[in-house]
Amino acid sequence: MTLSSVVIVGAGQAGFQVAASLRQGGFAGKISLVGDEPGLPYQRPPLSKAYLLGKIKAENLFFRPAAFFDEQQIDLIHDKAVLIDRQNQRVVLESEKALEYDHLVLATGAHNRALSIPGEHLEGVFGIKTLADADALAPRAKAARNVVVIGCGFIGLEFAAVAAAQEASVQVIDRGERLMARAISPQMSELFLKAHESWGVKFHFSQAVDQIIGENGKVTGVEKADGEVLPADLVVYGIGVIPNITLATEAGLEIENGIKVDAHLLTNDPHISAIGDVACFPCIHNQGEHTRIESVPNAMDQARAVSARLLGKATPFVSTPWFWTDQGNLKLQIVGLSTGYDSTVTLGSMETDQFSVLCFRRDHLVAVESCNRPGDHLAGKKLLSRPPELTPREARKPDFDLKAWEVAHRS
Ligand code: FAD
Repeated sequence: MTLSSVVIVGAGQAGFQVAASLRQGGFAGKISLVGDEPGLPYQRPPLSKAYLLGKIKAENLFFRPAAFFDEQQIDLIHDKAVLIDRQNQRVVLESEKALEYDHLVLATGAHNRALSIPGEHLEGVFGIKTLADADALAPRAKAARNVVVIGCGFIGLEFAAVAAAQEASVQVIDRGERLMARAISPQMSELFLKAHESWGVKFHFSQAVDQIIGENGKVTGVEKADGEVLPADLVVYGIGVIPNITLATEAGLEIENGIKVDAHLLTNDPHISAIGDVACFPCIHNQGEHTRIESVPNAMDQARAVSARLLGKATPFVSTPWFWTDQGNLKLQIVGLSTGYDSTVTLGSMETDQFSVLCFRRDHLVAVESCNRPGDHLAGKKLLSRPPELTPREARKPDFDLKAWEVAHRS
């Protein structure tokens, strides 16, 4: 069937990409891109890193200038989608305008999990999700003397590194026992712990936060469950995200830790796809389990896959997941999913901050984590996207070089 109109809800990384890829692929029909944030679509990764340090200006965050949307005839609509009328294939917006679709792409992303403790709304308590959040936070981060970060995932630690570079005293509280525990191996956590400590960051592990304390509406401290109060004039939290599923749920689409889609990223309605942070898809790199991945490469690859399908070139989505985080002088790149591995081999040295961890499950390589070793990351990407399989026995050989092995085993 030839499509004449595609509506995309969510003008973030995935939504923008599907619109751009459709046009690039020659789609001549109507494209409506609906976003509830003001301004042009922008990238989020610098918001917790370079943008806060003033190294990137707002205009450099935009995917494309305003003229691109006119030239490409992508109708960028600043509004909120409030209802999907599946029977009539229409999306209703807050302004009461309705958009008819032949195909609808849901790219609604995720929102920050709230702290849900007393004091969470005091002035000086921030989550980082949007450009508006980062704009409000940047001047506070420059002026802050005592910073408390709640949560030691990627975003919390990226901010801790920024605050430490601005010479604040920085303390991080986390319920878990180590850094970025959900995403990386204990060996890599240890490297990052040492680095953060060398920048002056202090950690409180296995600790819950009871409340945020304030005076005259402004934050003054954070009280941990053990009763200790850490002084704070700025609190930043990053304790995970929750997919934006309200629209999909109310429309009766299948939900499973996000909007459930099949291998082609289609929901249980053949006229609706879901992509990016909100989509939960069968992931061949996670033993076929339905998986939700929060990363820019995933959002972009899924957008390209849906665009290709809408242009008549359908193939199952099989992209290898990868992630990155920049903290101080450390660039960590992860390819594959390191959950459920049973053995590791390390390469390089922690002392020089050039270190990789190869993760294996039943002798199959499942992930490569590399810090300041981009060659290992690239080799890992290639190895994980095709046979032959690298075994731990091979990787344990003295002077093993991952990049050279990948080149030697190219098919
Ligand atoms: P988003 O980019 O979040 O876009 C979703 C959009 O949909 C939002 O604008 C939202 O407001 C809008 N929306 C939701 N509901 C509606 C509605 N009903 N109507 C209209 N619009 C709606 N990833 C990495 O790989 N590396 C990094 O270093 C990295 N750093 C990050 C740093 C920060 C501070 C943040 C917040 C994220 C970071 N990420 C990083 C994650 C990455 O940005 C996301 O995975 C990516 O943006 C997901 O794209 P998306 O399009 O699915 O969602």
